[in-house]
Amino acid sequence: AQMQRDFVANVGHELKTPVTAIRGFSETLLEGALDDKETASEFVKIILEQSKQLTDLINDILSLSKIDTSKGDTFVKIKLRKFIERIVQQFEPAIGEKKISFIDKIAPDVEVVCDEKKLQHIISNLMQNAVRYNKKGGSIEVSAVIFENEWCFLIKDTGQGIKHEDLGRIFERFYRVDSSRDRETGGYGLGLSIASSIVKQHKGKIYAKSNIGEFTSFIVEIPQQSSL
Ligand code: ADP
Repeated sequence: AQMQRDFVANVGHELKTPVTAIRGFSETLLEGALDDKETASEFVKIILEQSKQLTDLINDILSLSKIDTSKGDTFVKIKLRKFIERIVQQFEPAIGEKKISFIDKIAPDVEVVCDEKKLQHIISNLMQNAVRYNKKGGSIEVSAVIFENEWCFLIKDTGQGIKHEDLGRIFERFYRVDSSRDRETGGYGLGLSIASSIVKQHKGKIYAKSNIGEFTSFIVEIPQQSSL
């Protein structure tokens, strides 16, 4: 119950910033800024940007509640390499912009039985972070193996890294390593907690390794039988 109260308080807090901005800029527009075309278009852009952030936050919250309530889902057999390549494609604009090279080390024959949507959620999230927190001209390496009835998935980036004391906390809801910096890059600190809930639900493990300024790796291990 305490966790629930904390959660609601956090959500409220996070909603405040974009809503306050949308309201403030709309009021300023109505009070006269509409007449100055340049200012008006700048303000509308801010309103649009803030609305997009709201949508992201709402989607994250909806995913969390879905994971908490969903049980038996439909499992399908997936060829992991193809699956991941398709997800990576969605990030191509961002990858291109940062001149990041993508290294695919997934064996072509690795197959997993899983809930497609949930797997997609985890991988999209780790990819998004690997791009977002990477440096210009860096790389992202993805590999997957099946080992002793577990499948293990690894995504490694050459970004800013995560301090040792933060490594255990990044999976907490709303936890950001540096909220002022990360606010600019647009995250709410929910992505990894969603990934972690999904993995736990399937008796798997997710953890991170990092050297500050060098690399960050996220590793996901799921028992093959438990079916994601
Ligand atoms: P966000 O949406 O803010 O990225 P996440 O739950 O996905 O939220 O991540 C939590 C925090 O962990 C981030 O704010 C960021 O500081 C840190 N983090 C996550 N992935 C990486 C990464 N690949 N490299 C460096 N820091 C990371």
